[in-house]
Amino acid sequence: MKKILSKIVSVGLVFCMGMSLASCGKKKGMTVEKGKLIMATNAFFPPYEYYDNDVVVGIDAEIAGAVANKLGLELEIQDVEFDSIIAGVQNGKYDIGMAGMTVTEDRKKAVNFSSTYAIGVQVVIVKEGSEITDVDALLNGEYKVGVQQGTTGDLYMSSAPEKGGVGESRVVRFAKGNDAVLALSTGKVDAVVIDNEPAKSFVASNEGLTILPTAYVEEEYAMCINKDNSELLEKINQALKELTDDGTIPAIIEKYIPSNG
Ligand code: GLN
Repeated sequence: MKKILSKIVSVGLVFCMGMSLASCGKKKGMTVEKGKLIMATNAFFPPYEYYDNDVVVGIDAEIAGAVANKLGLELEIQDVEFDSIIAGVQNGKYDIGMAGMTVTEDRKKAVNFSSTYAIGVQVVIVKEGSEITDVDALLNGEYKVGVQQGTTGDLYMSSAPEKGGVGESRVVRFAKGNDAVLALSTGKVDAVVIDNEPAKSFVASNEGLTILPTAYVEEEYAMCINKDNSELLEKINQALKELTDDGTIPAIIEKYIPSNG
């Protein structure tokens, strides 16, 4: 009996050694680096995350800061490509991904999501006076659509017309949302599909652009966390609940998206 047990233990050990450090290491500590909460984001997504001089600020940065505070951790923000956030959380490089990230069924297969803290809406940006006046016109025409690589806007638009997209051949992908908007300004694409709040900010800072009045899809934002780290998931959800109940999160959102303006 003893022998069998030790065999099981050693098999477990070898198995553990063979697996990535991330998944086994997770059992020892709650976060990748002791005392820190490492957040991956893509800091070109105002007002959720953007640079103020060389500091990343915005709704996500502030909510993550408040959560880290509750957990007694120091927040460290790493600015990476949006498309690499989930993989980095999966392989244990970052504790959380927070980037105006939409909860989707597909992403749920790779990572866990916290409770949602905000709603996002996919909208269409066009040039003022464009003949694209609603979503149907965009879908049914021959227009080129700019998206940010790996985002839900990309996902929806790249899907086949019978699934509500325009199909791969009409989609042009950019690493950053503002690059897609620049391509629209210079006429390289006819429209950009992106989340509403960054869309407002990009339209405000680029002349001659407008957002179509009809929205495309409504979504929920949440933080993503490694599937093996249920301890962190629970603590974050508890912190999010407390910070919602005591008014901290509503105040952060109101600061960046004033409801009366
Ligand atoms: N909400 C979109 C998504 O999750 C876009 C996020 C982003 O560009 N930062 O895909």
